[in-house]
Amino acid sequence: MRFSKLRLNGFKSFVDPTELLIADGLTGVVGPNGCGKSNLLEALRWVMGETRAKSMRGSGMEDVIFAGAASRPARNFAEVSLHIDNSERLAPAGFNDLDNLEIIRRITRDAGSAYKTNGKDVRARDVQMLFADASTGAHSPALVRQGQISELINARPKARRRILEEAAGISGLYQRRHEAELK
Ligand code: ATP
Ligand code: MG
Repeated sequence: MRFSKLRLNGFKSFVDPTELLIADGLTGVVGPNGCGKSNLLEALRWVMGETRAKSMRGSGMEDVIFAGAASRPARNFAEVSLHIDNSERLAPAGFNDLDNLEIIRRITRDAGSAYKTNGKDVRARDVQMLFADASTGAHSPALVRQGQISELINARPKARRRILEEAAGISGLYQRRHEAELK
Protein backbone atom coordinates (compact mmCIF):
# COMPACT_ATOMS: atom_id res chain seq x y z
CA MET A 1 0.00 0.00 0.00
CA ARG A 2 1.44 3.36 -0.99
CA PHE A 3 0.00 6.76 -0.12
CA SER A 4 -0.43 8.68 -3.37
CA LYS A 5 -2.48 11.77 -2.55
CA LEU A 6 -3.73 13.72 0.44
CA ARG A 7 -6.55 16.23 0.05
CA LEU A 8 -7.61 18.67 2.77
CA ASN A 9 -10.67 20.89 2.91
CA GLY A 10 -11.41 23.07 5.92
CA PHE A 11 -8.88 21.13 8.01
CA LYS A 12 -7.07 23.43 10.48
CA SER A 13 -5.26 26.17 8.53
CA PHE A 14 -6.09 24.52 5.15
CA VAL A 15 -9.41 26.28 4.68
CA ASP A 16 -9.38 26.05 0.86
CA PRO A 17 -9.22 22.63 -0.81
CA THR A 18 -5.54 21.66 -0.98
CA GLU A 19 -4.01 18.65 -2.67
CA LEU A 20 -0.65 17.12 -1.88
CA LEU A 21 0.63 14.56 -4.35
CA ILE A 22 2.84 12.01 -2.66
CA ALA A 23 5.41 10.74 -5.14
CA ASP A 24 7.56 7.62 -4.85
CA GLY A 25 10.48 7.96 -2.47
CA LEU A 26 11.06 10.66 0.08
CA THR A 27 8.75 13.68 0.35
CA GLY A 28 9.93 16.78 2.16
CA VAL A 29 7.68 19.58 3.33
CA VAL A 30 9.47 22.84 4.03
CA GLY A 31 8.19 26.25 5.02
CA PRO A 32 8.35 28.97 7.66
CA ASN A 33 7.13 28.46 11.24
CA GLY A 34 3.36 28.24 11.45
CA CYS A 35 2.77 27.61 7.74
CA GLY A 36 1.04 24.26 8.38
CA LYS A 37 3.69 21.52 8.10
CA SER A 38 2.59 19.77 11.28
CA ASN A 39 -1.07 20.27 10.30
CA LEU A 40 -0.40 18.21 7.15
CA LEU A 41 0.94 15.28 9.15
CA GLU A 42 -1.96 15.62 11.56
CA ALA A 43 -4.37 15.42 8.62
CA LEU A 44 -2.70 12.17 7.59
CA ARG A 45 -3.05 10.72 11.11
CA TRP A 46 -6.60 12.00 11.36
CA VAL A 47 -7.86 10.34 8.18
CA MET A 48 -6.32 7.08 9.44
CA GLY A 49 -8.68 7.20 12.40
CA GLU A 50 -6.95 9.19 15.15
CA THR A 51 -9.36 9.56 18.07
CA ARG A 52 -7.29 11.54 20.56
CA ALA A 53 -7.99 15.26 20.16
CA LYS A 54 -4.99 16.01 22.34
CA SER A 55 -2.62 14.43 19.88
CA MET A 56 -4.10 16.75 17.25
CA ARG A 57 -3.18 19.63 19.59
CA GLY A 58 -6.85 20.37 20.31
CA SER A 59 -9.14 20.07 23.31
CA GLY A 60 -11.98 18.50 21.30
CA MET A 61 -12.02 16.86 17.87
CA GLU A 62 -13.98 19.77 16.37
CA ASP A 63 -10.88 21.89 16.87
CA VAL A 64 -9.55 20.43 13.61
CA ILE A 65 -12.20 22.46 11.74
CA PHE A 66 -10.95 25.79 10.36
CA ALA A 67 -11.66 28.19 13.21
CA GLY A 68 -11.79 31.40 11.19
CA ALA A 69 -9.33 34.22 10.62
CA ALA A 70 -9.56 38.01 10.43
CA SER A 71 -10.82 37.87 6.83
CA ARG A 72 -12.49 34.43 6.75
CA PRO A 73 -15.40 33.06 8.77
CA ALA A 74 -15.04 29.70 10.51
CA ARG A 75 -16.10 26.56 8.62
CA ASN A 76 -18.69 24.03 9.74
CA PHE A 77 -16.90 20.95 8.53
CA ALA A 78 -13.48 19.57 7.75
CA GLU A 79 -12.70 16.79 5.33
CA VAL A 80 -9.52 14.88 4.57
CA SER A 81 -9.15 12.30 1.86
CA LEU A 82 -6.26 9.89 1.40
CA HIS A 83 -5.61 8.04 -1.84
CA ILE A 84 -3.77 4.77 -1.61
CA ASP A 85 -2.13 2.91 -4.47
CA ASN A 86 -2.98 -0.73 -3.84
CA SER A 87 -1.74 -2.09 -7.18
CA GLU A 88 0.43 -4.62 -5.32
CA ARG A 89 -2.72 -5.79 -3.56
CA LEU A 90 -1.30 -5.70 -0.07
CA ALA A 91 -4.35 -4.16 1.64
CA PRO A 92 -6.09 -6.39 4.21
CA ALA A 93 -9.09 -8.53 3.26
CA GLY A 94 -12.21 -6.49 2.70
CA PHE A 95 -10.23 -3.64 1.13
CA ASN A 96 -8.15 -5.62 -1.30
CA ASP A 97 -10.35 -5.90 -4.38
CA LEU A 98 -9.29 -2.56 -5.93
CA ASP A 99 -6.08 -1.00 -7.30
CA ASN A 100 -6.88 2.36 -5.74
CA LEU A 101 -8.41 3.09 -2.36
CA GLU A 102 -9.80 6.40 -1.23
CA ILE A 103 -10.43 6.95 2.46
CA ILE A 104 -12.47 10.00 3.43
CA ARG A 105 -13.06 11.31 6.92
CA ARG A 106 -15.37 14.23 7.47
CA ILE A 107 -16.30 15.98 10.69
CA THR A 108 -19.24 18.33 11.03
CA ARG A 109 -19.80 20.57 14.02
CA ASP A 110 -22.18 18.84 16.46
CA ALA A 111 -22.38 15.70 14.28
CA GLY A 112 -18.98 14.06 14.80
CA SER A 113 -16.93 12.10 12.28
CA ALA A 114 -18.02 9.92 9.38
CA TYR A 115 -15.81 7.72 7.21
CA LYS A 116 -16.05 6.40 3.67
CA THR A 117 -13.85 4.05 1.71
CA ASN A 118 -14.35 4.21 -2.05
CA GLY A 119 -17.69 5.94 -1.58
CA LYS A 120 -19.09 3.42 0.91
CA ASP A 121 -19.92 4.36 4.52
CA VAL A 122 -17.66 2.51 6.96
CA ARG A 123 -16.99 2.57 10.69
CA ALA A 124 -13.99 4.30 12.26
CA ARG A 125 -12.98 0.82 13.40
CA ASP A 126 -12.76 -0.47 9.80
CA VAL A 127 -10.41 2.33 8.81
CA GLN A 128 -8.30 1.88 11.94
CA MET A 129 -8.01 -1.85 11.22
CA LEU A 130 -6.99 -1.23 7.62
CA PHE A 131 -3.99 0.71 8.83
CA ALA A 132 -3.25 -1.25 12.00
CA ASP A 133 -2.70 -4.39 9.94
CA ALA A 134 -0.39 -2.52 7.60
CA SER A 135 1.45 -1.11 10.67
CA THR A 136 0.99 2.41 9.33
CA GLY A 137 -1.81 3.45 11.68
CA ALA A 138 -2.49 6.79 13.31
CA HIS A 139 -0.33 5.72 16.26
CA SER A 140 2.31 4.01 14.18
CA PRO A 141 5.97 4.83 14.80
CA ALA A 142 6.16 5.53 11.06
CA LEU A 143 4.75 8.95 11.95
CA VAL A 144 6.94 10.84 14.37
CA ARG A 145 5.40 13.91 15.95
CA GLN A 146 7.38 16.93 17.09
CA GLY A 147 8.59 16.13 20.61
CA GLN A 148 7.90 12.40 20.29
CA ILE A 149 11.52 11.27 20.44
CA SER A 150 11.96 12.66 23.96
CA GLU A 151 8.59 11.09 24.93
CA LEU A 152 9.90 7.71 23.73
CA ILE A 153 13.10 8.06 25.74
CA ASN A 154 11.15 8.94 28.88
CA ALA A 155 8.34 6.39 28.34
CA ARG A 156 7.46 3.77 30.95
CA PRO A 157 8.08 0.14 29.90
CA LYS A 158 4.38 -0.57 29.10
CA ALA A 159 4.08 2.44 26.81
CA ARG A 160 7.36 1.56 25.15
CA ARG A 161 6.11 -1.99 24.55
CA ARG A 162 2.98 -0.62 22.82
CA ILE A 163 5.21 1.36 20.46
CA LEU A 164 7.23 -1.78 19.63
CA GLU A 165 4.00 -3.73 19.02
CA GLU A 166 2.79 -1.07 16.58
CA ALA A 167 6.15 -1.27 14.81
CA ALA A 168 5.91 -5.06 14.60
CA GLY A 169 2.44 -4.77 13.04
CA ILE A 170 0.69 -6.89 15.68
CA SER A 171 -1.44 -4.20 17.28
CA GLY A 172 -4.31 -5.06 14.89
CA LEU A 173 -4.35 -8.56 16.36
CA TYR A 174 -4.65 -7.18 19.89
CA GLN A 175 -7.51 -4.92 18.85
CA ARG A 176 -9.33 -7.89 17.30
CA ARG A 177 -8.79 -10.01 20.41
CA HIS A 178 -10.09 -7.16 22.56
CA GLU A 179 -13.22 -6.89 20.34
CA ALA A 180 -13.73 -10.66 20.48
CA GLU A 181 -13.50 -10.64 24.27
CA LEU A 182 -16.17 -7.94 24.45
CA LYS A 183 -18.61 -9.99 22.36
P1 ATP B 1 6.60 24.93 13.01
O1 ATP B 1 7.67 25.11 11.96
O2 ATP B 1 6.65 25.99 14.05
O3 ATP B 1 6.53 23.55 13.57
P2 ATP B 1 4.32 24.32 11.31
O4 ATP B 1 4.62 24.59 9.86
O5 ATP B 1 4.39 22.90 11.76
O6 ATP B 1 5.20 25.25 12.25
P3 ATP B 1 1.58 24.17 12.12
O7 ATP B 1 1.75 23.92 13.58
O8 ATP B 1 1.23 23.04 11.24
O9 ATP B 1 2.88 24.93 11.58
O10 ATP B 1 0.48 25.29 11.86
C1 ATP B 1 0.13 26.20 12.85
C2 ATP B 1 -0.88 27.16 12.26
O11 ATP B 1 -2.12 26.51 12.05
C3 ATP B 1 -1.12 28.30 13.23
O12 ATP B 1 -1.07 29.51 12.49
C4 ATP B 1 -2.53 28.03 13.73
O13 ATP B 1 -3.23 29.21 13.99
C5 ATP B 1 -3.15 27.32 12.55
N1 ATP B 1 -4.30 26.51 12.97
C6 ATP B 1 -4.31 25.41 13.77
N2 ATP B 1 -5.55 24.96 13.97
C7 ATP B 1 -6.36 25.80 13.26
C8 ATP B 1 -7.78 25.87 13.07
N3 ATP B 1 -8.64 24.98 13.62
N4 ATP B 1 -8.26 26.88 12.30
C9 ATP B 1 -7.42 27.76 11.73
N5 ATP B 1 -6.09 27.75 11.86
C10 ATP B 1 -5.56 26.79 12.62
MG1 MG C 1 5.46 21.91 13.23
